Amino acid sequence: MSIYKRVLLKLSGESLMGAQKYGLSTEVLNQYAEQIRTVAATGVQVGIVIGGGNIFRGLSGVSRGFDRVKGDQMGMLATVINSLALQGALESAGARARVLTSIRMEPVGELYTKAKALELMEAGWIVIIAGGTGNPYFTTDTASALRGVEIEAEVLLKGTRVDGVYTADPEKDPTATKFAEITFDEVYRRRLKVMDLTAFTMCKENDLPIVVFDMDTPGNLQKVIAGEPIGTVVKN
Ligand code: UDP
Repeated sequence: MSIYKRVLLKLSGESLMGAQKYGLSTEVLNQYAEQIRTVAATGVQVGIVIGGGNIFRGLSGVSRGFDRVKGDQMGMLATVINSLALQGALESAGARARVLTSIRMEPVGELYTKAKALELMEAGWIVIIAGGTGNPYFTTDTASALRGVEIEAEVLLKGTRVDGVYTADPEKDPTATKFAEITFDEVYRRRLKVMDLTAFTMCKENDLPIVVFDMDTPGNLQKVIAGEPIGTVVKN
């Protein structure tokens, strides 16, 4: 059961490493694919944006002498690698998934347009939008906010390794408590970290709520889609 018709799921590149220090864990990919296949089977339309931090981050390259723009382009290509890996895992799980890219690179994937994404989602395909925004100096958080708004998703589901937004970093402060719900303004006022500010502002200004939840626990995506109160809802 789903309370949504269309969602945008953001997965971090880092979480795809699992217990490894670099690259892709097939275990995590298969676990995610199974959760995504299960929710897509309920009829909810699913768009996905994946990060690239498990392979390369533009900013970290700068300290090692890389040009920022080239580093960011390398990071965007890393998200394409992750997207293809997830597409493969989804297909192995028996789901239908397509990769659209923000940078032209057929035959790896068709160029992203809103129309193409909607056409595929309405025909029952899971659509993975790869290559970030296609521009340097942005992040995949911003790409997920942008694509979420563009495809008219009702919610941006941020699947991470933490189970929501806390009053403070729960790893550093044992008294930190989790919000079930919080407004964009309150997140900003308290300087809490949900997404980078570009992504955050994009969601706030376009009234796209965010649900932060723990994607590493099997079954959680299904619960979020059913409207169960796990994670934290951020909204206006
Ligand atoms: N990136 C970019 N433009 C975008 C999205 C991503 O330049 O629109 C680059 C940027 O260098 C970033 C890298 O791709 O460091 C990986 O993306 P991100 O850091 O968002 O991945 P995550 O941290 O979620 O794994």
